[in-house]
Amino acid sequence: MDSEASDRFHEECAVVGVFGHLEAANLAYLALYALQHRGQESSGIVSSRGDALISHRGLGLVADIFRPEIIQRLVGTAAIGHNRYGTHGETLLKNAQPLVVEYAGGALGVAHNGNLVDADSLRAELERSGSIFQSNSDTEVVIHLIAQAAGEQLVDKVIEALSKVRGAYSMVFLSKDQLIAARDPMGFRPLVLGRVKDAWVVVSETCALDLMNAEYVREVEPGEVLVVSEDGLESLHPFPPVPPRRCVFEYVYFARPDSRVFDRTVYQVRRELGRQLARESSVEADLVTPVPDSGVPAALGYAEQAGVPYQLGLIRNHYVGRTFIEPTDSIRHFGVRVKLNAMPELMAGKRVVVVDDSLVRGTTSQKIVTMLRNAGASEVHMRICSPPTISPCYYGIDTPTREELVASSHSIEETRQYIGADSLAYLSEEGLYAFQPPEAERTFCDACFTARYPIPVSDVPEPRQLHLFDAFQAKV
Ligand code: AMP
Repeated sequence: MDSEASDRFHEECAVVGVFGHLEAANLAYLALYALQHRGQESSGIVSSRGDALISHRGLGLVADIFRPEIIQRLVGTAAIGHNRYGTHGETLLKNAQPLVVEYAGGALGVAHNGNLVDADSLRAELERSGSIFQSNSDTEVVIHLIAQAAGEQLVDKVIEALSKVRGAYSMVFLSKDQLIAARDPMGFRPLVLGRVKDAWVVVSETCALDLMNAEYVREVEPGEVLVVSEDGLESLHPFPPVPPRRCVFEYVYFARPDSRVFDRTVYQVRRELGRQLARESSVEADLVTPVPDSGVPAALGYAEQAGVPYQLGLIRNHYVGRTFIEPTDSIRHFGVRVKLNAMPELMAGKRVVVVDDSLVRGTTSQKIVTMLRNAGASEVHMRICSPPTISPCYYGIDTPTREELVASSHSIEETRQYIGADSLAYLSEEGLYAFQPPEAERTFCDACFTARYPIPVSDVPEPRQLHLFDAFQAKV
């Protein structure tokens, strides 16, 4: 596999920024810990000591990377941090963020959640004019654009650089005396502003604010640039306004259910979508069971609406990590059982509705159906709480190529046969918005379900083949 290509398109990540707190690095650590679900490949924190930036990055999970002595070394009252997703086997420290550079204006740290759609052409242009890149990440393009920008102040340079890129970004920048946070004009990826006493913080999701004991202030608005310094907080809207396109898949799968994302609690959205799923496609059954954890709130909503008992028929091992060693063939293939186990005591002779958030390649559903049948279910009805995933994401969610998306080339009936269920139903495109009043404006990107891309992506290669083959492993 081409390693350049393989380091793109998996920028599902988490970012944090802290300014004005004596334990800035510690707060950043807490935020990254709460945001571990957004990225498990690598993690990093950069703090500002006032006269210099100090950084630590590592591969693996937040709690393993940041030992107490490392946090102590990250002195200063401002910090930024990042968790990187990357489901691909090849884990590269050079792509870990925050990136730190020295440019004419001083030291600068950058952390990015999202994906730029024109990074390749911008990079080629920059290389032609002499820029030398150290990583494969699209974030580095922004750094080079900042280095070349004409503006006097850092914020002017950042704005000039960002006005040249297209795509999704929720970004934080740290200089020795400033924190800058920016969200792209469509607001694909989430970013929220909070306060811990006098300190300002920005984080990807509010579950991080809870752990930091921070107060939720508001969403950083699409297209907004926040500058935090000794002079306080300044809000700028430097880009021409466009209709927002927040990522609906954050609601479906990606964000933590206890987070407030795009000003709604994710749990409530998922539960309402589960209710809608039951309104659209309920079936005679004895019990409803979720695929944990992603299907839990949706299955609850489904069960409430359909009036069918809710049971935890699949139990999840929460400690499955990336280091699980598959036994040799002579033992047996563990497959999905490593992560999930069915309860025969609940299933025997029962007509079971099983609810998951999404069906991507179909391999997970296929294994779950087999597992439920082996546990004695007399009927297995698969209900998916989102529409068929038909097209890849170019704005920061890790999806496989179009060919690997089962729904891009198979009808629902063909997919049902493939996964072996008695019935299969998805949420309708209309039903996906059941969490808001019918007359409310649709301000979301749902390209993965509709192929309607809010930013044209013709100049972008398809995501590389592959990495959802271990989607289950990735969902730590
Ligand atoms: P699949 O076997 O490819 O159909 O995978 C579907 C499962 O992967 C569902 O249980 C989803 O919860 C999960 N999933 C969906 N999208 C993603 C993603 N971008 N990253 C990791 N897991 C995902």
